[in-house]
Amino acid sequence: MAQSYTAPKGTHDLVGASAAGWDFLQETARTIFSRYGYASIYTPLFENTEVFTRGIGEATDVVGKEMYTFEDRGGRSLTLRPENTAGVVRAAIQANLCVDGASAKLYYAGPQFRYERPQKGRQRQFYQVGAESLGNTSPLADAEMIMMLWDYFLALGLKPRQMTLLVNSMGDETCRPAYRDKVAAYLRLHADKLCEDCVRRADTNPLRAFDCKKESCRVVMDGAPALKDSLCDDCRAHNDAVLSVLDAAGLKYQLDPKLVRGLDYYTRTVFEIQVNEGLGTQNAIGGGGRYDGLFQDLGGKPTPSIGFAVGAERIMLALDAAGIDYAASTQKVIYVAAAAEAQREAALSMAMELRGRGLIALCDLQDRSLKSQFKQADKAGAAFVLIMGEDEVARGGVTIRNMESKEERFVTLGGIVKMLTN
Ligand code: AMP
Repeated sequence: MAQSYTAPKGTHDLVGASAAGWDFLQETARTIFSRYGYASIYTPLFENTEVFTRGIGEATDVVGKEMYTFEDRGGRSLTLRPENTAGVVRAAIQANLCVDGASAKLYYAGPQFRYERPQKGRQRQFYQVGAESLGNTSPLADAEMIMMLWDYFLALGLKPRQMTLLVNSMGDETCRPAYRDKVAAYLRLHADKLCEDCVRRADTNPLRAFDCKKESCRVVMDGAPALKDSLCDDCRAHNDAVLSVLDAAGLKYQLDPKLVRGLDYYTRTVFEIQVNEGLGTQNAIGGGGRYDGLFQDLGGKPTPSIGFAVGAERIMLALDAAGIDYAASTQKVIYVAAAAEAQREAALSMAMELRGRGLIALCDLQDRSLKSQFKQADKAGAAFVLIMGEDEVARGGVTIRNMESKEERFVTLGGIVKMLTN
């Protein structure tokens, strides 16, 4: 026998419930995001490596340690996308979507790739749904983005009490550099109590120390200077305005001075939604922020923008923990059974007819006996079985069996569709 293979480390197949879950996340995204005026965008799974090194930043974990970078046969350096924002911005610049003050609202759903240590809710190929509001400068855009993410989770079935919305401002190029220096100095002062990574971060990317999961580092970072005390006037006004819109909309949030998102491009508003139970430390199911400088980093004109990304694996874990059955189909399944060989063709034609009317219809494709067709119908969760026998066909109809009540009755062909679509 030939050797058999498994999916590469850190990847998994979406099959069965996880495939149904991913479909549910995408369909719900389309429903909710289109209400806010978002259109979909599909960018390549790989980009020129510079799109990420320039966009996300050399000093980030994602670029420094986690990218799948390779040279193609033409000697170009390409990278599997570790996130989708840089690609969307690159595409928007290329298509001139945001020239002369134009704005664009785009959303995506698809796989992303990071070379990480695989664990629960952390994969090397993982799936994200995300949205980008490009060229919208007002604090209203930030608030609408946060509301849309909240709405999305509600539409997936989570309850407000199961989620916590965290908001912070990361400042901008006016106030952040001085703040970074302050945090770097603080890290150096407490170097003896920090992990190796955080000691290194003092020189490379001090704000990342806020994200360290090590308890000893967390304790130190609890006492670190907060950016809210160093925001410049413009950033403070922007932040106040965002919070005021959220207040007016009745959306509850917590201000979290330690919320600093891991990618360099974020400016001003950053936010995260966490689930309160079931996911341990990997409880952030989605987050995002404003990135006012990214278009320029990628060679475009200044186009202040904001976006979010949510991780599918973690949302599915959160939905599981909350007891939400995303795999349940709401549409009834009908099984058309042939009583004998002579009715097999008629059964298939009947199934075609029902599908044409928008119903889900299955029939046997393995020459099974009537008894095992019933077993199949049960397995498929059929609500009704239509039995086509010699007698029924002669009388111009079928026997319909309600699989729940076990009731059976004869229905004429004309009456079947009417009965099943009621
Ligand atoms: P980020 O792009 O790092 O801000 O992540 C956004 C969301 O994507 C997170 O909240 C996670 O839910 C998800 N995510 C990030 N990295 C991974 C990964 N390696 N495996 C699974 N989900 C991930």
